[in-house]
Amino acid sequence: MLENRVAIITGGTRGIGLETVRVFYANKAKVILFGSKKETVEKALETLEQENIHVKGYFPNLKNIEEIQTVVSQIIKEYGHIDILVNNAGISANKKIEDTSLEEFNHIMELNVNAIFNLSKVVVPYMKENRSGVILNTSSMVSIYGQPSGVGYPTSKFAVNGLTKSLARELAPFQIRVNAVAPGITKTDMIADVPENIIKPLIQTIPLGRIGEPKDIANAFLFLASDLASYITGVVLSVDGAAMN
Ligand code: NAD
Repeated sequence: MLENRVAIITGGTRGIGLETVRVFYANKAKVILFGSKKETVEKALETLEQENIHVKGYFPNLKNIEEIQTVVSQIIKEYGHIDILVNNAGISANKKIEDTSLEEFNHIMELNVNAIFNLSKVVVPYMKENRSGVILNTSSMVSIYGQPSGVGYPTSKFAVNGLTKSLARELAPFQIRVNAVAPGITKTDMIADVPENIIKPLIQTIPLGRIGEPKDIANAFLFLASDLASYITGVVLSVDGAAMN
């Protein structure tokens, strides 16, 4: 479904991002994963090599537009074009507002929102040149309902939806599609610390009766990245088993 497409996937070292790397590669994309540091990128590349999956990895600081430009220029030099950008890296929060500092709030916004802006700003000119491209963002079901603590996280994901819908309108004349996937609770490190006594009752509220697997989200990204979605832009696709909160 993605033959010869060059795809960058941020947060590609584990969880949803790593599974998206696998699914895109299986569909013949040339994949470049981004991670936060050298060690985790190397570990991910090693794991993938063992699975006979050959991809490249980089670890630019997503808060630094110059570092991003350097890495993206290297990718363009090597591959000639970037067809798909998956802005997936993200961090969450769960503290009460009284216990959250402005620095902590800003830290979430910087990675979950500003980094998407930075990377999109650098990649869009290359996509415009080709008059084609797909940008995909990882939102969350909390971008629809909010959540009862950790206000920075849902705030950032509401912003991801706004950025997605607005960029979709701005870039549509250049045949660049911009969509987001809003996962429900998904089995990754992000929820590994949530105790069983909280997870179990949560599962009971999900009509499909289970939490999501990274592959559920990766498959949604595959569809939106592919030509099957060629008339879809500006959409936030919920992949959450019809979870209500
Ligand atoms: P995860 O913690 O397994 O993965 C997070 C990824 O983000 C990692 O690959 C990590 O390298 C990257 N990352 C973290 N800090 C970074 C930084 N400073 N710079 C660059 N990269 C950084 O969690 P996940 O569940 O796979 O999360 C992926 C995305 O899915 C996030 O945007 C998250 O908000 C979203 N999401 C997750 C769930 C869930 O229940 N797991 C639900 C909704 C949305």
